[in-house]
Amino acid sequence: MNMTRSFFKTFFLTELIQGLAVTLRQFLFRPNITVQYPEEKTPQSPRYRGLHAQRRYPNGQERCIACKLCEAVCPALAITIESDVGPDGTRRTTRYDIDLFKCIYCGFCEEACPVDAIVETRIHEYHFENAGENIMTKDKLLAIGERYEAMIAADKAADARYR
Ligand code: SF4
Ligand code: SF4
Repeated sequence: MNMTRSFFKTFFLTELIQGLAVTLRQFLFRPNITVQYPEEKTPQSPRYRGLHAQRRYPNGQERCIACKLCEAVCPALAITIESDVGPDGTRRTTRYDIDLFKCIYCGFCEEACPVDAIVETRIHEYHFENAGENIMTKDKLLAIGERYEAMIAADKAADARYR
């Protein structure tokens, strides 16, 4: 009996027809879910881990206190920090580099930072044109932080109750 059924299945290509029926059903009756990027964007989580930024306090002071926890926790060894004591007696970074070619966007640096200084923003559309642009220096990170502070602060606030 099994052999007979198998013969008819093979002879009439029933499995092929069933497969094509699934394709046809999807094609004709299911809504199109293709996103027309870049005109259309998919929703992003406030926890999205994109381009890094360094933040300042509202009075303009750098948040980073050069504790180097982010450098220590980074599994990709992407962060390089040098520090010194500033004129006001506080410890500050004299160099803060993130190599985006090494970074795996794990978010550990953001998690480890005790003062919410280093963060990962939602920015994911960026590119490099010249060698060396993959190194995000302190100045570049602070500039991104200044430009996107409203978005960063809103994302932090939205996620605060889960932390
Ligand atoms: S996101 Fe992860 S890999 Fe990238 S710099 Fe931070 S800790 Fe390192
Ligand atoms: S970014 Fe945060 S964790 Fe990294 S050195 Fe500065 S204060 Fe410490």
